[in-house]
Amino acid sequence: MLWAGPPAVGKKTLALRFAQGYLCEQGVFLGCGTCRACRLVERGQHPDVLVFTVEAGQTHSIEDVWRFQHQVALRPWHGDVKFFLWDDAERMRQEAANAMLKTLEEPPEDTVTILITSQVYRILPTIRSRAQILRFGPVREDVLLSYLLRQGEWTEAEARWIIRWSQGRPGWVLQPRNFWEFHKRLRRAVLDWFQQWLSQPQEAWWRYMEMDLRPLVGLAQEVFRVPGGIYTADGWVWNRWWVQQVVLHGLMILRDLYWLRLGLRHLIVNVDVVGTLERMAAWVEPAWIEGRVEAWMGFLHDLEVYHFGGAWQVPGRLTAWS
Ligand SMILES: [Zn+2]
Repeated sequence: MLWAGPPAVGKKTLALRFAQGYLCEQGVFLGCGTCRACRLVERGQHPDVLVFTVEAGQTHSIEDVWRFQHQVALRPWHGDVKFFLWDDAERMRQEAANAMLKTLEEPPEDTVTILITSQVYRILPTIRSRAQILRFGPVREDVLLSYLLRQGEWTEAEARWIIRWSQGRPGWVLQPRNFWEFHKRLRRAVLDWFQQWLSQPQEAWWRYMEMDLRPLVGLAQEVFRVPGGIYTADGWVWNRWWVQQVVLHGLMILRDLYWLRLGLRHLIVNVDVVGTLERMAAWVEPAWIEGRVEAWMGFLHDLEVYHFGGAWQVPGRLTAWS
């Protein structure tokens, strides 16, 4: 099976629950979560559930595929089915994918293989054509909203902001509270900075915006001390993830200002600070915003390609912040 959809919509979570449900000693649909089998799956220790993952920027190795082929040939330990989950299944070199194809062509009856991907077009066409494809999408805003409001931690406007910032992906919406507190503080810093220069005469704006984002990055860096920074050639200490978050908040704000100027208020992300945004929107023209968005997108691209390389993941881990 091939489970495809954007990151953080719950593909891997559901795949594990699916296996859990099958192996559950209580026979509970999607698993009871308390029996021995369910707990083993949860801890990643069930001998009949093998999960293949890769580090960021890496690919699944041919050794992993060999291990898979070896395990597929064995009988299940407990039940009558073995589960094989391949996370980020698109991250596989040609030789590994070809080796894998052989096994997928003639799958033993007692195995279930789930390839999980957010980039289905990068899966070998020969594998794609053999697999049953299940597509995942974002979760509807009202579903996530009622869930968040039941938790009682956020106002409705804040909850909508969280959901829209997460693009309806439960894996992001369900980040711990301190994650979103961090983003609120970061957005505040970016908003303050925007207001500071937007209230200047327009001729002075270039000093802030036309060069690049360094003033903004420097400012927010003072607010949030970042461990694990990366030195660039000109001596700046940058943490890629962190810089991306700053730029993303800037982009979201610019985008919101654009929608407000066009009278499309229902599309904005930062719904909980709409009053501030409406005041700011009066200062800028849509065409100017378009130019800035383009420049900032270019900056994000450069950041990814030239400065640090590797995959760009949002929102990443918070461990360094908690
Ligand atoms: Zn169970």
